[in-house]
Amino acid sequence: MSGLAGRNIADPAAVEARDGAFLEEVRAFLDTALTPDLREAGRRTLGVHADMGACRLWHRRLYERGWVAPAWPAEWGGTGWSARRRFLFERECALNDAPLLFATGLRSLGPLIIEQGFPAQRARYLQPMLSGEDMWCQGFSEPGAGSDLATISTRAERDGDHYVINGTKIWTTGAHLANRMFAVVRTASEGKPQNGLTFLLLDVDTPGISIAPIIDLAGEHEVNQVFFDGVRVPVENRIGAEGEGWGVAKRLMQLARSNNSPSALVRRILHRGAQALAASGDLDDGLHARLAGLQIELEAFAQLEQDALPSGRPRANDDANPSMLKLIGSELHQKVAAFALDVFGPMAMAPRHSRDEAMEDGAHAMAKYLAVRAATIYSGTSETHRNIIARWMM
Ligand SMILES: Cc1cc2nc3c(=O)[nH]c(=O)nc-3n(C[C@H](O)[C@H](O)[C@H](O)COP(=O)(O)OP(=O)(O)OC[C@H]3O[C@@H](n4cnc5c(N)ncnc54)[C@H](O)[C@@H]3O)c2cc1C
Repeated sequence: MSGLAGRNIADPAAVEARDGAFLEEVRAFLDTALTPDLREAGRRTLGVHADMGACRLWHRRLYERGWVAPAWPAEWGGTGWSARRRFLFERECALNDAPLLFATGLRSLGPLIIEQGFPAQRARYLQPMLSGEDMWCQGFSEPGAGSDLATISTRAERDGDHYVINGTKIWTTGAHLANRMFAVVRTASEGKPQNGLTFLLLDVDTPGISIAPIIDLAGEHEVNQVFFDGVRVPVENRIGAEGEGWGVAKRLMQLARSNNSPSALVRRILHRGAQALAASGDLDDGLHARLAGLQIELEAFAQLEQDALPSGRPRANDDANPSMLKLIGSELHQKVAAFALDVFGPMAMAPRHSRDEAMEDGAHAMAKYLAVRAATIYSGTSETHRNIIARWMM
């Protein structure tokens, strides 16, 4: 596969020494910056980000250390780390229960603006994204358009130097927490559906936007439906040309799928499942064998993650590697969540928010299992990714 070809052969001893020094630096930072309450918030995370108080505090600490954007180039405030360093950093964060950031902006829009934004857009949006002042949500899906995104019908009509938006977006993660949104809207209906789309940046508090919560399987409020009623957005907030939003959105999804360190998400749950199994004193061979098998799958996947995208940025025509990472990562995530559930056995049926620690951990494993069902739907369903990979191979 194209992403696996041409690996650099480095002196293993030199790499090990450099990795060792880097790991020491990361561990020393985590030892002091990750306070017990932040670790607890990390452990209790069900969805794609931790409780917002912990999120903001952890974001601030990473920003002050210069490590909040591992995948961004150093010239734009990122770390400039290699794929190996990003992997080591994310692995340590996972093993130490660091809170998951609310990072839609950092993972997808930031890299896109660095690549395709105007200088004024970079100046306006990148710094507040790094500092955590701006939190972004993604307005792509609609009630009638998900996998087939080109069929979206939320319209934006040009009115002088503004677009006026009417319509609705759905499943918008964190719309109630974010102050900004990037969205794809329809500016023309002629020709192929992909041709009439435009990519816009907007403020969530613009008059005419209203947000309705959707409660998920785990009982959490993470996603929303967002309504647009005559929402005015300046034309200067457009990324790419009018009518060319399809290409911009596709690139954003490639970047997003390449930047969310899926192996670290899986490692978090597997690590906790292994700890719970050890604490239970359970001698069930079946669970031990599953743990070993999952650990092997995880390490193989982590290696693929580093090899597939050594620069962290897929080439523009590389649909397959981001799709493989998303597909394998989300399906492994679900297998590991199911394993953790089985480790807790009947405790997983306990009510949430119990005072008994074992019951609370069991209930959390169940809630996590339910929350992770969505992993093979968001950011493209597994079927969609299988189609992309198969098409790429033919
Ligand atoms: C928890 C969660 C968070 C989300 N967050 C966001 C967000 O922040 N912003 C955003 O814009 N969207 C978000 N989404 C929406 C998500 O991207 C869509 O749900 C997803 O793209 C699927 O679209 P759909 O729900 O319309 O299902 P559909 O596209 O209607 O698909 C229904 C089923 O048909 C299958 N299917 C569809 N087309 C094909 C095909 N060609 N071949 C084979 N099978 C096919 C699908 O795989 C799926 O199983 C989120 C979704 C969830 C569950």
